[in-house]
Amino acid sequence: MVKDFDAVIVGAGLVGMSMALSLAKTGLKIAVIERTKISSQLDAEFDGRVSAIALGSQYILDDIGAWEFMQLYAEPILDIRVSDGATPFFLHYDHKEVGKNPFGYIIENRYTRYALHQAAALLPNITLIENFKIKTLFQNQYNASITRDNGESITASLIIAADGKNSQIRELAGIKATHWDYKQTAIVCTIEHSLAHNGLAQERFLPIGPFAVLPMTGNRSSLVWVEPNDRVKIYMDLPEDEFVQEITERIGGYLGDIRTSGKRFSYPLSMLHAKKYSAQRIAFIGDAAHSIHPIAGQGVNLGFRDVATLGELIRKQYKCGLDIGAENILSDYEKLRAVDNLSMIAITDLLNRLFSNNILPIRTARDIGLWTVGKLPVVKRIFMHHAMGIKKVGNA
Ligand SMILES: Cc1cc2nc3c(=O)[nH]c(=O)nc-3n(C[C@H](O)[C@H](O)[C@H](O)COP(=O)(O)OP(=O)(O)OC[C@H]3O[C@@H](n4cnc5c(N)ncnc54)[C@H](O)[C@@H]3O)c2cc1C
Repeated sequence: MVKDFDAVIVGAGLVGMSMALSLAKTGLKIAVIERTKISSQLDAEFDGRVSAIALGSQYILDDIGAWEFMQLYAEPILDIRVSDGATPFFLHYDHKEVGKNPFGYIIENRYTRYALHQAAALLPNITLIENFKIKTLFQNQYNASITRDNGESITASLIIAADGKNSQIRELAGIKATHWDYKQTAIVCTIEHSLAHNGLAQERFLPIGPFAVLPMTGNRSSLVWVEPNDRVKIYMDLPEDEFVQEITERIGGYLGDIRTSGKRFSYPLSMLHAKKYSAQRIAFIGDAAHSIHPIAGQGVNLGFRDVATLGELIRKQYKCGLDIGAENILSDYEKLRAVDNLSMIAITDLLNRLFSNNILPIRTARDIGLWTVGKLPVVKRIFMHHAMGIKKVGNA
C-alpha cells in the first residue's frame, strides 16, 4: 500500500513534532512517523530530562500553538549564576537587566512532548504513525519514499529527518557526520528542597565537569551533573543518603534540606555535526543534524530554530505554488542555519574544555574572563541575549 503526503517527518521527538505543527498551519498534508510507541514517551520514567527553553524558543512554541498546553508546567528562569569551582569569581545575570521577560523556562521534556501532541491532535492534516520501523529509503528528482518492514510505503515531496543523533535517515541517505566523544556522562535527577529556588539557575564549573542546578515548578530542581565516564557508576549506585551528601557538597546549603525524587538517569555525551543538512528531497533538523554538549542547555533550542527557519522557507514556497522539496529550499535552509549551529558547537566545546580541568594558568585565565564579562555591561548583555536565544530584547 502506498500513502502520499506533502511532507513526511521522521521522528516524533520535540523537534519533529514542532516541525509538524509549524507546517500544518499552511494546510500541507503531513505524516509524522515514529519508531516507538508514542504513549511510552509521555511516561515520567521515559528519560527524566528537563530542558532550558530559551525565551526565543518559547516564542516559537507559542507561534506553533504548543505553549498554551505547557505553560503551567514551566518555571521561569529569573537569575543565572555561573561560578568556577571554589574560586570567588562568578557571573550573576539578573533578567531585569535586559527587561521584564525571564531568560527562559525550565520544563520537563515529557510535558513539552505532551503539549506538542495535544496541539497536533487539533490539526486534521497531521497523521501520526507510531511503531514504524523503516526498512528502505528511495529518492528521485520528484519525491522521496520510505518503506516499512511490512512493505507499506509512504511518499512525499520532502522528507524531514528529525530522528535524533543516530539518524537512520542520515545513514540511509549516505550523509557523513563529524563526531567526537567527550568521555563524559551526565547524571540527571530531580531533587526536592525545603527552601525556594527563586528562579535561580546555577552552573558550577567543577574541575571534573560542569554541575547545573535548574529551577523546576514547586520546591524542586533538576540536576545535570557531568562526570568522566569511569566515575559515573559509583554515583549511580550510591545509597540515597550518600548521594544527597555528594550533592550538598557541590551546591552548598542555599536550597535547605534536600532529597531526591524519582530515578537517576545517565546520558553519555558526544558531539555530532552532519557534513550536510540536506540530501535529495531530504532536510535534517535537530539532533539529526547537530548534537552538542549540554553545558549551556542549548541543544533543543538550536532544533527549534531549525524548525522556525525551515518552516518559514517551506511556507513561502508553498504559498507561491512551488515545489516544497526543491533544491533551493534545502540549500537556503543550510546556509541560514549553519553559522548558528556551528558557533554553538564551538562555544559549548570550548567551555567544556576550558572549565573541566584544574590547570593553574587556564584557571587564572578563565577567572579573569569571568571577572571581565561581569564588569563590562555591554559584553554581559550580549551573553544574556545569547542565553535567551534572541538577538535583541526590548523592555516590554
Ligand atoms: C543530559 C542532557 C541535558 C540536556 N539539556 C538540555 C537543555 O537544558 N536545553 C536544551 O536546549 N537541550 C538540552 N539537551 C539536548 C536536547 O535534549 C536534544 O537536543 C533534543 O532532545 C533533541 O531533540 P530531537 O527531537 O532532535 O531528537 P530526539 O530527542 O533524539 O528525538 C528523536 C525522535 O525520533 C525517533 N526516531 C529515532 N530514529 C527513528 C527512526 N529510524 N524512525 C522513526 N523514528 C525514529 C525517536 O524515537 C525520537 O522520538 C540536553 C541533552 C542531554 C543529554
